[in-house]
Amino acid sequence: MVFVMERLTAVSDMKAWSRALLKQSRTIGFVPTMGYLHEGHLALMRRARAENDRVLVSIFVNPTQFGPSEDLNRYPRDLEGDAKKCSDVGVDALFLPEASQVYPPGFQTYVDVEEVSRPLCGASRPGHFRGVATIVLKLFNIVAPTRAYFGEKDRQQLRVIMAMAVDLDLDVEIVPCETVREADGLAMSSRNAYLSPDQRKQAVCLHQALLEAAGLFDKGERNADRYVRTMSQRIAQEPDAGVDYISLVHPETLQALTDVDDAAVAALAVKIGDTRLIDNMLFNHRSRKIQQT
Ligand code: AMP
Repeated sequence: MVFVMERLTAVSDMKAWSRALLKQSRTIGFVPTMGYLHEGHLALMRRARAENDRVLVSIFVNPTQFGPSEDLNRYPRDLEGDAKKCSDVGVDALFLPEASQVYPPGFQTYVDVEEVSRPLCGASRPGHFRGVATIVLKLFNIVAPTRAYFGEKDRQQLRVIMAMAVDLDLDVEIVPCETVREADGLAMSSRNAYLSPDQRKQAVCLHQALLEAAGLFDKGERNADRYVRTMSQRIAQEPDAGVDYISLVHPETLQALTDVDDAAVAALAVKIGDTRLIDNMLFNHRSRKIQQT
C-alpha cells in the first residue's frame, strides 16, 4: 500500500483526527512551523517521528506575530515542496489552517507570557511573543499533542512556550531541539532565502561572534561586557551588518547578566541588509564537564 500523508485544513477535521488517535491511546508528536522547510525543521520532525506513534506538522504563517512593518506578506512559501519534504521524513498529516478560520471576526483573546517575553526579541518586536504564545496555545488546543518540538535557534520562543506550558498547566511535553547549521555555521532559517550571495557570506558573522564568545567562556571570562564587546567587534567587520541586540543572558530567565558564572546564553539579532537574523549559543561548564566524562 502506498503511504499517503493527509492534508487537513478545517479546524474541525484536525480535531477529529487527533481525538480519534487519542481514543486509541496513540501518542502525537507535533511540529508547528511557518513553512519554507529546511533541515532545521526536518530534524524536529525526525525526532518527533522517533518518539511518537503519529507525527503532525502545521504550516501557518501567523499574522499576529508580525509587526506592521515586518515581512508577513513576503515571507517565503513553497507548499508543494514542503509537503514532499514532510512526506519523505514520514510525517502522517499536515495541518494547513486558513487565517480566516484561526482568527475569525470578533477574535479577541491573547496570551501574554510576561517576564521572559520582554528582553531580546521582545524588546525589538513588540507584540511578537504575544502572537506566538496565542497561536501555539490555539494549535495545542486543536491538535492535543503528546509532545511538541521547538528549536533552540529560537531560544526565547522556546522559553516563552515552556513558561506558558507550566503556568497554564498544559498537558504537553515541550521538547527542545538543537540548532541545525549550514556547513559554515550559519543557523538554518527560512529567512536566509532573502540574502544575496554576498550577504550570505557576511551572515556567517553571527555564528563566528558566538564562537568567539564561547572561547571567552572556556577561558573563564566572567565580565559580561567583554563578551558583548567581543561579539560586537566581529559583527562590525561586515559592511552590511547592523546590530539589533547583542546580549549575554541567563539561560532560563533570559535576563541580562553582568557577571558570568556556571552558565550563560549569548544571543544576538543582526540585520544583514534588510534581513534580520537571530542566533544564540548556550555556554555551560556543568554540561561540558558531563559531556567530557
Ligand atoms: P519557523 O518555521 O521559523 O517558525 O520554525 C519552526 C520551528 O523550527 C521552530 O521551533 C524553530 O525554532 C525551529 N527551527 C527553525 N530553524 C531551526 C534550526 N536551524 N535548527 C533547529 N530548529 C529550527
